[in-house]
Amino acid sequence: MYGAAVEVEDEVLRFHREAFVVDLHNDLLTKLVLRGGDLGKRHGAQAIYNPLAFDIDVPKLKEGGVDALGCLLFAGMGLMARRRFWKQLEEFDRLFDKHPELMRARSAADLRAAKASGRIALFLGIEGALAVEDDATALQKLADAGVRFFGICWNKTNKAGVSSFDKKNGGGLSTIGREIIGECNRLGIMVDVSHASKRTFWDLLDASKTPVFSSHSGCEALKNHPRNLDDEQLRAVGKQGGVVGIIFAANFLAGLFESTVETICDHLEHVVEVAGEDAVALGSDFDGFVPLPRGMRDVRDLPRITQILWKRGFGERRLKKLLGENFLRYFEQFN
Ligand SMILES: [Zn+2]
Repeated sequence: MYGAAVEVEDEVLRFHREAFVVDLHNDLLTKLVLRGGDLGKRHGAQAIYNPLAFDIDVPKLKEGGVDALGCLLFAGMGLMARRRFWKQLEEFDRLFDKHPELMRARSAADLRAAKASGRIALFLGIEGALAVEDDATALQKLADAGVRFFGICWNKTNKAGVSSFDKKNGGGLSTIGREIIGECNRLGIMVDVSHASKRTFWDLLDASKTPVFSSHSGCEALKNHPRNLDDEQLRAVGKQGGVVGIIFAANFLAGLFESTVETICDHLEHVVEVAGEDAVALGSDFDGFVPLPRGMRDVRDLPRITQILWKRGFGERRLKKLLGENFLRYFEQFN
């Protein structure tokens, strides 16, 4: 399933490595809690889809020319969810002792400092309100631990807001959800609209005093999927100065067997067409237990996106924005 290799030309690879490359969303910390492992080791691609294989490790991050990664604390599933949530934070803290190539980041300035020193910046986000839904003040503790962005729900509706997969519930952000967003604004935490139902999405835009962003979604105009954003939503995120990180999940892009790296590029281009060149970003969902499109084996293949868009005549200026500068600009407001 990993066929459709894309040859990356030397000139494009050089450009990609110089550009600031930020990937807004991965579930590496969940995977580390579930299976353990050494990120200093290089993990090969699997012949068939293996949800427990690592899409991300330090050697592959270098090969993929990645400068910064949004790492998620996942709070959404099972009886052990709360315990696992806090364990992910411990895993995050441990990474920096084990791997001097990685740097803990809390700001756009940290992201730039990491690149300047040849390191890869890791910054924290939360996926799902579980850890804070009974107590919005818990966000203070998480902000102190370095959390910089917050998504209200995962695939299931919680006390804070309705999920995009919830067909029965037409509701949006709850009173608790509004309180949490108020806390996010107070603490300078960015609001992530991925996974929110349509109504929750519009409520988030209304409730948040700062521009919102989407860390990992696709475009509904290209593939009708509950997790994708329609054109009106894309335009709204762009208009208020946010960014949309395009997810690489094959089933969100075109279909499990139809999606390729070209399809990722179609979604990226669609964001540019609808929301403008300042609104597009990368939000792979690597290590998120999602099947990747053909040709995207793991994080080492990110330069293939640059190659395809280069060939499509995207231009260096717009490519730099898409690869990371748009997100840096957005993040800078929260320093
Ligand atoms: Zn997700």
